[in-house]
Amino acid sequence: MIDDLPPLRDVIRTHDLRAKKSFGQNFLLDLNLTARIARAAGDLSGADVLEVGPGPGGLTRGLLAEGARRVLAIEKDARCLPALAEIAQSYPDRLQVIEGDALAVDALAHLTPPVKVVANLPYNVGTELLIRWMTPDIWPPFWDSLTLMFQREVAERIVAKPGSKAYGRLALMVGWRADAKIVLNLPPEAFTPPPKVSSAVVHITKLNAPRFPADAKVLERVVAMAFNQRRKMLRAALKGLHPDIETLLQASGIAPTARAEEIGLEQFCALARALKNN
Ligand code: SAM
Repeated sequence: MIDDLPPLRDVIRTHDLRAKKSFGQNFLLDLNLTARIARAAGDLSGADVLEVGPGPGGLTRGLLAEGARRVLAIEKDARCLPALAEIAQSYPDRLQVIEGDALAVDALAHLTPPVKVVANLPYNVGTELLIRWMTPDIWPPFWDSLTLMFQREVAERIVAKPGSKAYGRLALMVGWRADAKIVLNLPPEAFTPPPKVSSAVVHITKLNAPRFPADAKVLERVVAMAFNQRRKMLRAALKGLHPDIETLLQASGIAPTARAEEIGLEQFCALARALKNN
């Protein structure tokens, strides 16, 4: 028992929170599991936690019980608010809930650093938010770490290394400015109702500066073009970028006949710098 609140099955029954597909709802009802996910975010004491999509509040309860200074939770489904209000009562002044779409709400105004983001979100929203959180106009970003649930296949793309099928834009975008690792694997049965696929929790810690210098927009463009035609040799896939791409590839230590999949982050950054300067 992590708190004095009723079991989540009772909460769902009392508030009639039947999972709705339209909200991408697959709930975690095992409080031991939500406490484990909260612990995967590291030491929460002294941190504000931004939780997106708290639903009936299983993970929220884990975050509060694990000592988060404050939790700011953004939930789109108004039906969940009474259940979340009960949690707020048990943890006075530590839980603030905003009803709204996480893609539209300005959470920053309500947060005090250091901030950790933790979420079990619908997969499409999760990927979109991850991309936004990884590509702010200014780096370092508002958050110190992101601990997020993904479809396992997406989680594998985030942590992928060169030479693997899963390696591509996501791994490079995240790896450029953060460390990422899979910290927990979950079978479909961990959720109510169970989704079709397995899931994994990814823990991402920001670096204060990018691992290698490069202009963010140029790097993003190079990587996008390279992987849009991942089977082609780079001299062909990237020929639209520069009239003499072959020379720039060579100057960056990349064989023009190589394919995107074989190229590491450092070389992509070198190429982005060469493009910027030529
Ligand atoms: N965190 C809860 C848990 O682990 O049991 C719920 C997880 S459920 C997969 C996703 C939650 O995100 C639902 O409560 C859903 O209503 C909410 N949600 C979906 N889209 C959202 C959005 N755009 N903004 C905020 N919340 C959203």
